[in-house]
Amino acid sequence: MTTKTTRTGGCLCGAVTFEVDAPKPRFTMCHCGMCRKWSAGPFMSVHCPGPANFTNTQGLAWYRGSKWGERGFCSVCGTSLFWRLAENPDEILVVSSEAFDDPDDLTLERHIYSDAKPARYNFADDTPRVTEAEFLEEMGVTSLDNL
Ligand SMILES: [Zn+2]
Ligand SMILES: [Zn+2]
Repeated sequence: MTTKTTRTGGCLCGAVTFEVDAPKPRFTMCHCGMCRKWSAGPFMSVHCPGPANFTNTQGLAWYRGSKWGERGFCSVCGTSLFWRLAENPDEILVVSSEAFDDPDDLTLERHIYSDAKPARYNFADDTPRVTEAEFLEEMGVTSLDNL
């Protein structure tokens, strides 16, 4: 038996739409400074194992924010959508959980860059808090500059 894990999504105005395979209905919340500035809050995202199948790329633009990563967004309405490895863009696609058409079954897996979270906000859940150093160790690197 196969479970359908394809999800569809898009930006606020519809100039970017996509479908992507998202096997795990879990999202991560990143508190790093770049994510917070880029997405106007902690970035809530689902890790997908491959590239998206884009059904509209009219507004799609990529911003290379660091040595390692680039961020995809809609250049028409400004919606923050994706993060991927700049040098290996088809390996993973990190997709904003809020960009999906049906995100209501997604559950929070954990917080990352928890030590970069400012004191002015807090979440009351008891999922794991993973620091930058712990996250980078998990990724097998010592420094990503910023993601
Ligand atoms: Zn848009
Ligand atoms: Zn981040």
